[in-house]
Amino acid sequence: MSRITKTTVGELEVISLTDGDFIFGNEMFSNADDTEIAALLAQDEREAVETNFNAFLVKNKDQTVLIDAGPRDLFGDTCGFLPDALLEAEVDPADVTHLFFTHLHPDHIAGAITPEGAAVFPNAQVFVSELDHRFWTDASLFTDESSQQWHQLALAVLNAYAGRVELINGEALIAGGVTMLPLPGHTPGHAGFRVDDGNHSFAQVGDVVHAQSLQLANPEISVIFDVDREVARATRKRALDMVATDELLFSGGHIMRPTIMRLERYGDGYRLADGQ
Ligand SMILES: [Zn+2]
Repeated sequence: MSRITKTTVGELEVISLTDGDFIFGNEMFSNADDTEIAALLAQDEREAVETNFNAFLVKNKDQTVLIDAGPRDLFGDTCGFLPDALLEAEVDPADVTHLFFTHLHPDHIAGAITPEGAAVFPNAQVFVSELDHRFWTDASLFTDESSQQWHQLALAVLNAYAGRVELINGEALIAGGVTMLPLPGHTPGHAGFRVDDGNHSFAQVGDVVHAQSLQLANPEISVIFDVDREVARATRKRALDMVATDELLFSGGHIMRPTIMRLERYGDGYRLADGQ
């Protein structure tokens, strides 16, 4: 099974790397009861609330940018296939020059270190939004056991790349043609990224959508992992509106394969449209 989807944006190459997949329980979502979830799944011809874990590569002439690194072994044997996806994309971990984390949740960062805590990408400069860095390094914000584990993992990743972590703000340039796209709410500094070259553009809207069957059709539906649900909901609506209005090629951290699509308005929400 292929784990990658490729497209080009002007002179740049964009490749999605699907680390794995997972099924969410209905209780992971708010603003939707079981009846509505069942109806939305039927409309999307799916039997369960499916999600993917996607990382991305952007290649320009002399830089290889990796965005996110997957959950490694944290979520069982349906995930942890980033190394296979990189192999399929013919990229060696040592080739990665830039590593951008959309945010510091475990499913986006664990794959950047080995279980022993060593950096997987020996030559990468790491980019993190300053707001997310501030949030994840503040021990006072993490009081229960599972959130403390997430906090510790974020610290372990930052530690593994110590001395080469760059904190960025706003629509900062990450590498040639690649800029951060701030999308606050899921976490304080949560972001996606844009790839622009001439009049060609691609937007990765991060984690504004965890379950496309539900949240594209009804963007009011939230996932319980949103740190600020109200801000995240407003951000989701703004991001999806931008993608549809500007007819952008787009993807996200949890979009199902083929992962690189366009979006069209449908009812009170959106549905996917062919991206190539
Ligand atoms: Zn995520």
